[in-house]
Amino acid sequence: MNKSAKIWMNGELIDWIDAKIHILSHVVHYGSSTFEGIRCYDTLKGSAVLFLDEHIKRLRDSSKIYRIEIPYSEKELKEAIIATIQANNFKVCYIRPLVYRGQGALGVNPHRASIEVAIATWEWGTYLGEDVLETGVDVRVSSWTRPAPNTLPSWAKAGGNYLNSQLIKMEALMDDYAEGLALDVNGYVSEGSGENIFVIRDGIIYTPMSGQSILPGFTRHAVMHIAKQQGYEVRETLIPREALYVADEVFLTGTAAEITPVRSIDKYPIGNEKRGPITEALQNEYLKIVQTGEDPYNWLTFL
Ligand code: PMP
Repeated sequence: MNKSAKIWMNGELIDWIDAKIHILSHVVHYGSSTFEGIRCYDTLKGSAVLFLDEHIKRLRDSSKIYRIEIPYSEKELKEAIIATIQANNFKVCYIRPLVYRGQGALGVNPHRASIEVAIATWEWGTYLGEDVLETGVDVRVSSWTRPAPNTLPSWAKAGGNYLNSQLIKMEALMDDYAEGLALDVNGYVSEGSGENIFVIRDGIIYTPMSGQSILPGFTRHAVMHIAKQQGYEVRETLIPREALYVADEVFLTGTAAEITPVRSIDKYPIGNEKRGPITEALQNEYLKIVQTGEDPYNWLTFL
C-alpha cells in the first residue's frame, strides 16, 4: 500500500506515521467500527468524489444501528474528507472514513469507550486485478453464507461484518478465484465479499433484494438507475444458485470493483466467457460519468 502524507484524526490532519490507536481500544477486541469506502475520480472537469453525501449518510446509518453517535456533523465530515484529499494532493484516490470505539473500558459493553473518527486516503487501482473490467473474473460460490437476518445487520457497514467477508475472500483466493459469492441463509444468492451482484438472462437484469443480507451498495443503485434509463427491466428478487450457472451475463458492483464482469462461476462458463453486451453498455455509461465529469444524475461532488 502506498503511504499518503496526511491522515485526518479527530479533527486534525496528522502525519501518516502518527495515526495510531491504543491496543486496548474497544474496536481492536470487538470489531466495533463503522466505515465507508469512497472514490475520488480525476474527471475531465476536475477531481470529484462519487456519492459523497450518500456515503456520509450510510456512515451515519451504520453508526446509528450500533448506537454510535458520531461527534461531527455531516457537513464537518464532508469538509474533512475534502481537506484530507487536498492535504495529500490527490487528484484520484480511495477514501476511508472510519468511526470506531476507542479507549474507556474493555468489557463487551461499548458505551464506556470513546468514539473516534479518522479519514485516510490512498491510491488504489482496479480492485479485482488489472484488465478485469474488460476480461472479467473467475469466481466461486462460497462455502460460507452471509450472516442470517437478525444476527449481524448487513445494512450496517461495520468492521465486524468483514470477518465473514474475509472467510469468503480467503477461501476464494486460496482456490485461485478472484472472488467468492455468498448465498444467504436460505440458499439464495446474496453478494460477494465486498460487491453486490447482478445476473442477466434473456435481457432482464436481476439482483438480490435488500433484505437478503446484502449491503445496499451505491454502485448497485447507480447501475439499477442507468439500466432503467437505458430501457432495461431490473428485478430485485430471489435468485437461486443455479440461475448463476445458466446466466447470459453476470457482473459485480462496488465502489472498489466498479462494474466487474464475471466470466465463470464454479468453472461454469458464463455467456461467452467475456464481458457481455449489457454489462458493457452499463459500464460505459458509469465510466463516462466518472471519467468525463458529465454528471446527469448529480452523483459527483467536485473538490
Ligand atoms: N457489499 C459489501 C459487503 C461491500 O463491502 C460493498 C463495498 N462497500 C458493497 C456491497 C458495494 O457497495 P458500494 O457500491 O456502496 O461500494
